[in-house]
Amino acid sequence: MKDSNGIKERIRNYKDAERLMALGLYQFFRPIQSEQDTEVIVAGRKLLMFGSNSYMGLTNHPKVKEAAAQALLKYGTACAGSRFLNGTLDIHIECEEKIAAFVGKEDALLYSTGFQVNQGVISALVGRDDFVVLDKLDHASIVDGARLSFGKTLRFRHNDMKGLEDVLKPIHHERGKLIVADGVFSMDGDIIDLPRVVDLAEKYNAMIMIDDAHAIGVIGESGRGTASHFGLTDKVELIMGTFSKSLASQGGFVASDRATIHYLKHNSRSLIFSASPTPANVAAVMAALDIIQSEPERLQQLWKNTHRLTAGLKGMGFDLGRTTTPILPVIVGDDLKCLRMSLALQEEGIFVNPVVYPGVEVGQALLRVSLMATHSFDQIDQALDKFELAGKRTGVLPCGISCYGRS
Ligand code: PMP
Repeated sequence: MKDSNGIKERIRNYKDAERLMALGLYQFFRPIQSEQDTEVIVAGRKLLMFGSNSYMGLTNHPKVKEAAAQALLKYGTACAGSRFLNGTLDIHIECEEKIAAFVGKEDALLYSTGFQVNQGVISALVGRDDFVVLDKLDHASIVDGARLSFGKTLRFRHNDMKGLEDVLKPIHHERGKLIVADGVFSMDGDIIDLPRVVDLAEKYNAMIMIDDAHAIGVIGESGRGTASHFGLTDKVELIMGTFSKSLASQGGFVASDRATIHYLKHNSRSLIFSASPTPANVAAVMAALDIIQSEPERLQQLWKNTHRLTAGLKGMGFDLGRTTTPILPVIVGDDLKCLRMSLALQEEGIFVNPVVYPGVEVGQALLRVSLMATHSFDQIDQALDKFELAGKRTGVLPCGISCYGRS
């Protein structure tokens, strides 16, 4: 009797990953045996890392590591409780003040991951009679936050403002409406058309929440994010971000006016019912924030690196879609071809992230290449050589006679 359990059947029948393993193309959960930097060790081999979200290159910075170590020694390894009860430290509050000042909002609230921010903020704000309006390419955590809310979720075509207006127009003017979009889109690397979103939000009485996971440390004045980039900080009600990218740590934040943060503090379930960020993580964030603000040359270098790799890849004929940021999607199309190219790059000493269905739509497989401020031009040029080689070998680039001879 017990055998006919649908859940067990689903688990038994799941073969997608095994199929890739059988073909020798499975490249997920690759164990890295070193720190996360421009060079990493995988299976005992040195690879150049072009797949990290550490845009500022700070995860291995001595001041960040020292701050984390000192906090660990002073406060211990963990807080053993949620922010709501026994898990709030003085450094959580200090960090919230620093983050709020950095992004230009009155107040901020720390969560243990960025994923939990989107989950807990959207579900707490959007009630039964409200609407949450999402860009089709919004991050999974935004989609899950909307799913957990009691409101109705509506979607518009990616960065399509006519589509957004079509969605907003029919909703009654006084119904609650929250537009949520990535500031910099995590796979495509393009930036939300915030000025038009703001116009439409004003016209249709909607609030705006921007996910700046990939924008903090990357765009805006001193890396302050998307609203700063467009000079529209006052028009965006909620700015969220994660610590797991430029801020060299783990955790996330939402920043807004005092009343909204007060409301979230007492209504956001992923905050109230989950342990608070560890002391070391919080201290690392504050050290990273200090460095980002005191060393503006890092941001400049990130953009110089971005322009060099973008120009090189485009010059070879790779399709980089609509990116305008340090996230470079090398569009391959076919899943297997994409995995073959990623493997060929790994064999040549380059680590990138293959993104296949369901991470992207069928036929839209891509290699997600990303830059760090700490990459050298020499590393970028080495990567470009290897991209050309791997691209020709796997048929992503048109191939001359010469490349067939190489093993
Ligand atoms: N939003 C976006 C756009 C992201 O890319 C991510 C992480 N990939 C998150 C939220 C979640 O952040 P975290 O890693 O801190 O959970």
